[in-house]
Amino acid sequence: MEVIRGAEALRRLVDERRAAGDRIGFVPTMGALHAGHRSLLRRARGERETVVASIFVNPRQFGPDEDLDRYPRDEPADLAVCRAEGVDLVFAPPVEEVYPPGVALVEPDPGPVGELFEGAARPGHFRGVLTVVYRLLEVVGPCAAYFGEKDAQQLFLVRRMAAEHGLAVEVVACPTVREPDGLAASSRNAYLTPEEREQAGCLFLALAEAAELARKGETDAHVLVAAMAREVGAAPLARIDYAAVVDDATFLPIALVDRPARAIVAARFPSARLIDNLLLPPPGG
Ligand code: AMP
Repeated sequence: MEVIRGAEALRRLVDERRAAGDRIGFVPTMGALHAGHRSLLRRARGERETVVASIFVNPRQFGPDEDLDRYPRDEPADLAVCRAEGVDLVFAPPVEEVYPPGVALVEPDPGPVGELFEGAARPGHFRGVLTVVYRLLEVVGPCAAYFGEKDAQQLFLVRRMAAEHGLAVEVVACPTVREPDGLAASSRNAYLTPEEREQAGCLFLALAEAAELARKGETDAHVLVAAMAREVGAAPLARIDYAAVVDDATFLPIALVDRPARAIVAARFPSARLIDNLLLPPPGG
């Protein structure tokens, strides 16, 4: 496994691999690698001859009052994970390699969906996400890039960007990896106090409750949302940010669950803000 800091050096190495006939799978991350990231790396390893992972905490996707400075960073541990998962090339660049001064950046427009939910809570977040993903895809040039369903709105917007910009990359969605109590694995879980951690399962409980109601035939999204809010409200340390049901094809809120739909939820604990989502089963499913 090689660790590369420079964009041109990485481009050269990937070109060599491609010329040798390898198909390139790419897993972009912000490091602090956990079981969720591992699942993406494993999927890429199983499907492509060369696996590239990036470790880059992207300043452009953090708001001024967010956790950029305290975001967990542990490169030696991350490299050990990459090695264990069979990654070939790790791109761990400094900021100026991703955003070279004087070079015009492509800043894809997240559109209206980029203003909702995570975009409403974190203005500018998705423009920052799409900017870094576009730039990384441009440098790596993979035929497949792997993203977690855990960040469903991000996955939706990345997919749409790839289509709108005609990028020759397959965006592969990977299922959310969870702790035994249902809490989705996340780098930000490390912020939680033991008491908060105990209550953090409320997000998944809320989603599971919505899924159970949908399975029993409830089609009124308001009923599902109210049930989710109740479940999060039962955790004294959690403050709900949003709960909603969205059309899985458009990521827009729906009132009637009469098509493939996704329940989404975000909550603030004193030490961390957490998000999660779940595809709702069809009635009787
Ligand atoms: P991050 O390092 O948080 O930017 O995440 C990098 C990638 O890992 C993104 O595509 C995430 O959606 C994905 N990811 C994060 N947590 C999970 C999880 N619990 N299960 C599956 N994928 C995840």
